[in-house]
Amino acid sequence: MIFARRAIDDALWREAIGEFPVFDRLSETDIERLKVLAERFIRRKSIEGAQGLEIEAWMEAEIAAQACLPILGLDLDYYRGWRSLIVHPGGFLVRHSYEDEDGVVHEVCEERIGEAWDEGPVIVSWEDIDASRRGGEEGVNVIIHELAHKLDALNGTTNGMPPLHRDMDPARWSSDWSEAYEALCRRLDEERAPPIDEYAAESPAEFFSVASEYFFALPEVLRDAYPRVYEQLARFYRQEPIARP
Ligand SMILES: [Zn+2]
Repeated sequence: MIFARRAIDDALWREAIGEFPVFDRLSETDIERLKVLAERFIRRKSIEGAQGLEIEAWMEAEIAAQACLPILGLDLDYYRGWRSLIVHPGGFLVRHSYEDEDGVVHEVCEERIGEAWDEGPVIVSWEDIDASRRGGEEGVNVIIHELAHKLDALNGTTNGMPPLHRDMDPARWSSDWSEAYEALCRRLDEERAPPIDEYAAESPAEFFSVASEYFFALPEVLRDAYPRVYEQLARFYRQEPIARP
């Protein structure tokens, strides 16, 4: 006889939920549903430590809980096509090459805190997961950021537009997002303080991921700055963080 292992111990789950303010808005029912998803996530995905980092059960619970928050209104199937979530102790170096205007290829090493490969693993830094704990940096969540890139990539291109639901209008999505993106870029050009992390102005794809972090972690800030973006995300994620008790 095979006994299904309960992937996450109840006490560890409670601690994981209590550690991160991003869960404060969830109802008891949501927290129960999130646990079921997180247990499925742990069974289907492989959460691996890199550079000697050992992933203990409590860390696994914290990672899976945050990873599943964006798909609480969707399904685990939205994370299809990849298997590993790799956790480095801190920022990690990534070597990549680019071609300049003269056609010369340069190789550079850059430090990253997270990365999502096309059809490959998600890589995050534990130090930066730590930063989104209670009392840490507000509005920041490296796991949600990288998994938003994975959702964005589901329709083949990482361009700031994930596959929309049938009741959503792609033209409306594009105009709402471009308007907000241009407003953010204009604001930065005028050297005025941006309402959300300026990294969002890197590209429409980064805007989608940074807006997703705010949607879950600081939804009021996102709604006040870009109400249409907030509304589009509420439709896509099928969640209403502000309306929650
Ligand atoms: Zn990014």
